[in-house]
Amino acid sequence: MNHEALFYITVVVIAGILSLFLCFYTRFVIKDGPGVKPYFYLTLFSSVFTFAYALELASPSLEQMRFWLRIEYLVLPFIPVFSLFMCLEYAGKKIPQWISYLLFVIPILTIFFHNTNELHHFYYSSIGLQPDTPFPVLKLEWGPWFYVHSIFVFLCLMYSIIVLLLQLKLPLFRFRMQIITMAAGLVIPIIANHFYLNGLSPHGIDLGPVSMSASFLFHGAAILSYQVFNVSPIARETVFENMRDGVMVINQNGVLVDFNQTMKQMLPALKSKKIGNRIEDVLRNNPSLLAVLKEEKECEERVLLNNQWIHVQIRFSTLWNKTKGIGQIITFADITDRVRIQEKLQYLASTDGLTKLFNRCHFHSRADDIFKRYEQDGGVVAIVMLDIDHFKSINDTFGHIAGDTVLQHTAKLIKDCLTEKDVIGRYGGEEFIICLPQHTREDALALSERMRNRLRESSITIGDETISVTASFGVSVTSISPGDPSCKDLLIQQADTALYKAKRSGRNRVILFEEAKQYS
Ligand code: GH3
Ligand code: MG
Ligand code: MG
Repeated sequence: MNHEALFYITVVVIAGILSLFLCFYTRFVIKDGPGVKPYFYLTLFSSVFTFAYALELASPSLEQMRFWLRIEYLVLPFIPVFSLFMCLEYAGKKIPQWISYLLFVIPILTIFFHNTNELHHFYYSSIGLQPDTPFPVLKLEWGPWFYVHSIFVFLCLMYSIIVLLLQLKLPLFRFRMQIITMAAGLVIPIIANHFYLNGLSPHGIDLGPVSMSASFLFHGAAILSYQVFNVSPIARETVFENMRDGVMVINQNGVLVDFNQTMKQMLPALKSKKIGNRIEDVLRNNPSLLAVLKEEKECEERVLLNNQWIHVQIRFSTLWNKTKGIGQIITFADITDRVRIQEKLQYLASTDGLTKLFNRCHFHSRADDIFKRYEQDGGVVAIVMLDIDHFKSINDTFGHIAGDTVLQHTAKLIKDCLTEKDVIGRYGGEEFIICLPQHTREDALALSERMRNRLRESSITIGDETISVTASFGVSVTSISPGDPSCKDLLIQQADTALYKAKRSGRNRVILFEEAKQYS
């Protein structure tokens, strides 16, 4: 055999072996990942095509060459389609099912026209042998469909390259080399085709199959050294970057390995150049968060995001490499909406809608907290109950809405006389209750008198009317020693008794329970 022919055949066979190797490697080693399936078909069809072309080059007669050419064309037209599918999947782009079916129409027509060429010469106008070549090489005169096929191949490869290169504008630096290598692999067949179609290839040899060996060297490099398909592919990386949750990854030595855009917004201390530093150094200025991260316990925290406090739920999950834990994935989920709704529900469940004071149930729970503290540590505590005098007549005279306004006025006026530590609630219709921690009998009486006088002196204007109201007060005070049993209910009962006495003895007055006993 001519040694030049041997050279070309060797190169083509190497391309075939290379694509067969990559085909088996993706099928049995990588197995799964975006782009793997189309890549499998791409390499399988390419190897069939290249081996058939090697046999075409080795054929001694035109007849045998035509036979192998026919075999080549059973797979060749599909190669650019699978190349496009691979790039789309790799870049995480989805195309509608019907478009993917449509993409097979031209390849199928190409196969049809190629096989029936004798009848119409639509694909090749003539098939013969190149003159003056050291070994037999086909001389093909192209018909119209050949150009359709060539343009289709060109467009598929170009679009594949564009899809890949568009990924370069994403902030995915670590994938740059993968993308460039893959795209370079696709450029080679385009250049080779250009040479062949313009009659620039040596002896008129189709450079397509030869170029594939170079092309697959690039793809092989991308797959083997950059692990194109099995290291976080672009689609997964894009999801990571665009997640609403902040995510950071710390390895088993406490070194910051990665974080996404949201995490960076939540914690501006995270900068790209901090990757590779210990998390203690990165969060040096945020010791409370650092303590939370060290504890590795799911919790809720507040962080400042774009100058606004948001609530985040911090979760930890171990990053496994087979059976070995190699780090932690820490997720910051924004739960601000949930927390706000919870707060609102809590507010609605604990507050009286009209007066905005605590309702009876919540007053009890807050008073219980105070009494529990005193039952442990000891101290004095007072309960004051007050009831608006002749309130029914206000409703009857001025109407229910005026009555509501009086209730709101009274609630506000009384609340303004109290401190943060005191607890006030609406106990019933026009009855209020106050728990006064650390108030002696004198303190509680003086405060009650002050409230009574302020209410008496105040007036409420409704339309043309000015309304004045008074209230009666019942006060009970106790001194609690550490370890004493709970006396809250008793004290409330005593205050109620004193209030009753205040009503009975003429209203608009303050009565202490001790005094109340004298009335009975
Ligand atoms: P006393 O001096 O003995 O306390 O007499 P009173 O009229 O204040 O007491 P009474 O218990 O006879 O009447 C209380 C009235 O308060 C009856 C009820 O219709 C009215 N009331 C209860 N809740 C509300 C409310 O939310 N808004 C209004 N406008 N009236 C209410
Ligand atoms: Mg009343
Ligand atoms: Mg009442």
